[in-house]
Amino acid sequence: MTPWNPKIELMPKEELDKLQLKSLKALVYRLYDFSRFYHDRMDAAGVSPLDIRTLDDATKLPFMVKKDLREIPMDQLFMVSNRELVRFHASSGTTGVPTIVGYTQNDVTNWSESVARGLAAAGLGQDDILQVAYTYGLFTGGLGLHYGAERLGATVVPASTGNSERQLDMIKRLGVTAIACTPSYLMHLGEVAGKIGMDFRRDTKLRTGILGAEPWSEGMRSRMEEKLGVKAINIYGTSELSGPLWCECTEQDGMHVWRDQTLIEVIDSKSGERLGPGEKGELVITMLLKEAVPIVRYRTGDIATVDEEECECGRTHPRLGRITGRVDDMLIIRGINVFPSQIEYVLMQNPELGNEFQIVVERKGALDDLLVKVELKPESFIDNVAKMECLREKITSKIRNTLSIAAEVELVEPNTLPRFEGKAKRVVDRRRL
Ligand code: AMP
Ligand code: ZN
Repeated sequence: MTPWNPKIELMPKEELDKLQLKSLKALVYRLYDFSRFYHDRMDAAGVSPLDIRTLDDATKLPFMVKKDLREIPMDQLFMVSNRELVRFHASSGTTGVPTIVGYTQNDVTNWSESVARGLAAAGLGQDDILQVAYTYGLFTGGLGLHYGAERLGATVVPASTGNSERQLDMIKRLGVTAIACTPSYLMHLGEVAGKIGMDFRRDTKLRTGILGAEPWSEGMRSRMEEKLGVKAINIYGTSELSGPLWCECTEQDGMHVWRDQTLIEVIDSKSGERLGPGEKGELVITMLLKEAVPIVRYRTGDIATVDEEECECGRTHPRLGRITGRVDDMLIIRGINVFPSQIEYVLMQNPELGNEFQIVVERKGALDDLLVKVELKPESFIDNVAKMECLREKITSKIRNTLSIAAEVELVEPNTLPRFEGKAKRVVDRRRL
């Protein structure tokens, strides 16, 4: 698909290096002059703007963490006055108290540009009708996609979340070609459609899903594509960075991170050391052009890899791989690290299982117990105790072999686990209650 901004998206790497360095230097001077918080942090770390001479010098800058955004008074953190702010947003509170972020007009413009480039890379254009089924409001998903799609010139259906039957009716009635929502919600819509006798392929023009805001797997991708006939595109962002920012292109092999706006690093979350290309670690992001709230070496807590190789699509910008977990959602069960995404990966390999599952962690005596509840597909739900037991054992041993952990598996009836219109909550950790 033609790039939205060919000059930038296809820019040779050496030119991008220069552009990025220029913006990094300018940012550091701005921080030093206009952010009291960052000025003090840089002084404490013994770094002055003059120390930033190469892109690698970025590692001299102190990290920022979610706690900073939550705890530093706004008048110290924000670099502009209220007069220049055009909007506030807040995080969804995935991991605690929401963090508030402000935007200037330029911040909103750059954000929309990033999303517009991503949507174009995902194959969308002016002829597309995008139903935005992320929440509109303080959460960045709804308005982020909305502004990006309008910038692209697509037509937006600002559906927000909820009321699945109405969502389906809109998709059908308006000839919607793409939907932006969480992957779990698209699967849910597919289920509701099935119940009312609607077939996505036959009855709709829906061909693309722009799916993010929560972890999902390759297994889920192939299922959705197969079942719904929708090309499932990953999109990533966090409210601290702006909101949804980077999409996969039609190659579906990582999300293009625009270097003119962003400096992306992967670090070892324990030592804080920067890792090499392709190595898995914690994502650290610097937003080079943000005016209202500085985002400098922000530790996202998300774990992924970054691929620096040029993409098949011709875009020269690095690609962020699928988020495989969080530094802080990692469950430690009987001394073993377990990521919910790994359990999902194992479950999705089994054609008998449905899409919904729940991980329950309990402490029985001194030991942790892991229970994995998973829905069966309606056609696999049969009244044959021996067969069910055999399937249960198969999944238990797959989990044991892949994760080196003993889990109790419970196969439950279709449509019995809770559904979520926003982010799915897969883990019930009773150990902390
Ligand atoms: P929020 O600040 O509420 O937008 O939440 C941002 C967090 O959602 C990120 O730090 C990730 O942990 C998660 N997230 C967003 N997009 C994705 C994605 N495509 N895959 C996995 N996790 C995601
Ligand atoms: Zn590409």
